[in-house]
Amino acid sequence: MLLDRHNYHLFTPLLYQVATSLLNPSDIAYPFRAVFRRSRNVRFRQAAVTGVDLKRRVVRTHDGGDVPYDTLVLATGSENDYFANEELAAHTLGMKTLSEAMRLRNHVLACLEIAARAASDEERREWLTFVIAGGGPTGVEYAGALAELLRMVLGRDYPELRPEQARIVVVEGLDRLLGAFHQRLGAYAARALRDRGVEVRTSTLVEKATDEAVVVSRGEEIRTRTVVWSAGVRPADPLSHHEVRRSRRRRLEVDERLRLTGHADVFVIGDAASVSGNGGELPMLSPPAMQEGRYVARAIVRRLGADPDPKPFRYLDKGTMATIGRRAAVADVHGFKLAGTIGWLAWLLVHIYYLIGFRNRAVVLASWGWDYLRRDRPIRLILRSEADRVAASVEPEPREDSADG
Ligand SMILES: Cc1cc2nc3c(=O)[nH]c(=O)nc-3n(C[C@H](O)[C@H](O)[C@H](O)COP(=O)(O)OP(=O)(O)OC[C@H]3O[C@@H](n4cnc5c(N)ncnc54)[C@H](O)[C@@H]3O)c2cc1C
Repeated sequence: MLLDRHNYHLFTPLLYQVATSLLNPSDIAYPFRAVFRRSRNVRFRQAAVTGVDLKRRVVRTHDGGDVPYDTLVLATGSENDYFANEELAAHTLGMKTLSEAMRLRNHVLACLEIAARAASDEERREWLTFVIAGGGPTGVEYAGALAELLRMVLGRDYPELRPEQARIVVVEGLDRLLGAFHQRLGAYAARALRDRGVEVRTSTLVEKATDEAVVVSRGEEIRTRTVVWSAGVRPADPLSHHEVRRSRRRRLEVDERLRLTGHADVFVIGDAASVSGNGGELPMLSPPAMQEGRYVARAIVRRLGADPDPKPFRYLDKGTMATIGRRAAVADVHGFKLAGTIGWLAWLLVHIYYLIGFRNRAVVLASWGWDYLRRDRPIRLILRSEADRVAASVEPEPREDSADG
């Protein structure tokens, strides 16, 4: 039985393209029930896991249902981490879920509408200033895509506004962007963003945010209506009420066969798990999560056949990539450092390959082609959905909306 709070699988690497009006939500998500249509032994239930009774071997869900298990695999991923700062949680916009990406898209498009009718230059500047907290892959990709969106539409679709009136600032605490990549690739990303008119502030922290401003290191205030939070994630932990071992980053510690320490019938994989490899804890990225998932599936099948446990898990590092915009991306693959057009082509191929479903691949390719050739972002509807009680009963509010969970 597969339990998930959403009824779809989400391809997070393209979430920023939904937030910047390049793709529709349905292009990067796929219903679980369709994924497992032909898997007769899989059952799906939409429910949020609220806890686990490790002694009785029962998973608890938000709707009061108990799901007993013989073997449990925890793969709950991660959520925004605001470092217990309520103010940052309340006044910044995350980009971790599809609803957050849609909220961000609506917010930015609404800012443009308000800027177009602003009474003064000062007011217009505030609505057209976008601050992005965090210069990792998510922050860099979003900043590049937002710069392209604004360059395409301001002036052309908004005759009241000029592209040079917009200001995008990326604020990064480390002394360079893309800290997990080779230094040369981080420097390339900073150059590529600056070429697109983005201000890059390294060694700078976001200290405070309100609805009208953000305060960064040394007390500098930037007037803005938009602060995007991509500065921290923490594991989503359904065992938060249990005294189990966790790493420094609060990920659940597992043994070399990915079993929760002291619980042979519970596996933990992906962002939620602290797995050793490559001389440290494996990063919160898709390749470790997918390899761990395959490993655990095989281990369970062996158990069912009463075969001995598989060899300990070994991670095969296939590299990392991030894109800044058209013909600009960085990729660190098997020791090869790719940047520019070649990195961008590699990025396009890999992302199309890993999307689920032929329809999604075809639609995403067509949208990219349209964007590239026509320099047009037509998906610019401001959509606000009213809360629906029936939908809310199967999909409760995610925990990541609050600072302390
Ligand atoms: C914007 C963004 C861009 C990214 N880009 C890249 C990239 O380019 N390359 C890369 O390698 N990685 C990228 N990542 C990281 C990558 O998405 C994660 O490392 C990977 O998805 C982790 O897989 P997972 O299975 O552990 O968690 P997830 O893929 O997050 O899946 C967790 C699932 O658990 C569900 N869930 C969580 N809590 C509960 C609960 N209590 N009850 C029920 N269901 C629950 C969620 O709905 C979700 O479906 C990106 C992440 C984000 C947010």
